[in-house]
Amino acid sequence: MAPTFDQATREALLARVRFYRDLGLTEFYRRPVDPALLAKLEAESIPPQGHEPDSAQNLGAPSFRHPSGEWVGDHEPQAARGQQDLGAPGLDSATWETKPHSAQSQEDPAIPPRKPITAPPQVAAAVPVADRAAALEIIREEIGDCTRCPLHKGRNKLVFGDGNPAARLMFVGEGPGADEDAQGIPFVGRAGQLLNNMIAAMGLTREEVYIANVVKCRPPGNRTPEPEEGNTCSPFLFRQIDVVRPQVLVALGATAATYLLGARQPLAGLRGRVHAFRGSRLIVTYHPAYLLRDPRQKKEAWADLQIAMRELGLKPPAKG
Ligand code: URA
Repeated sequence: MAPTFDQATREALLARVRFYRDLGLTEFYRRPVDPALLAKLEAESIPPQGHEPDSAQNLGAPSFRHPSGEWVGDHEPQAARGQQDLGAPGLDSATWETKPHSAQSQEDPAIPPRKPITAPPQVAAAVPVADRAAALEIIREEIGDCTRCPLHKGRNKLVFGDGNPAARLMFVGEGPGADEDAQGIPFVGRAGQLLNNMIAAMGLTREEVYIANVVKCRPPGNRTPEPEEGNTCSPFLFRQIDVVRPQVLVALGATAATYLLGARQPLAGLRGRVHAFRGSRLIVTYHPAYLLRDPRQKKEAWADLQIAMRELGLKPPAKG
């Protein structure tokens, strides 16, 4: 008979599976259950993937390593100081948003990764630079007060996109979190602060790039968007991409990579190289929220961003 787990164990396992999925690990094989491991999992608490802790904005901007070796931001990550850190710098796991138990257990069916992802639509004709802002506005108007998928039910503000309509570099995230839902702007929470620092480390400003998400409404409790939600919303993202026509696109995390490439593949196999994508070059890296949880991976993310910089012909900004 299959073992039944108490709520705390179920939540810990759910969080662990999300954590592995964040890493691009999606295939699991069952081994006999180790009671000691279960006890350990029960004691652990890892926040949901792809998102950041809510209400953590006044804790300082998360740092990102500048090519000079300096940390950009207000502090050095704990991991760099030789401490183990799987949470956001300066936060313990108790500070992360937790969901009501009932809502969390309803999310179990969302975990199996092998669900169909709709193939990307055909690339649209190029829009002249001078018309790109207006073209984006038309897409925004078409989305309107959207009720196309269930995510609209919990929405405060729809998060369309932000930045330069003719950007050379575009970032794609997963979906709005609480801060974005409140403000209607992508990546304005703690993960957004880290993304800003990543952009600065590349020698760019946030105003120079364009930022959007796979889904435009916040998934309840920051869960990963369901395929129905991602497939309904992502055509608008593709249209935004076709208008902005960035030279380089950076997919932040597994969800963005999955919907952009139209297939779920382990993140590990997608990172570290350039993908041809709708006339642009696509680079896949970790989601900033994941980097907040495991700052040791910032080095890897920086290597990915350096590929993006090379494609853009950018040199890292001088130290100081
Ligand atoms: N995470 C995302 O994927 N997108 C946002 O806009 C904010 C957090």
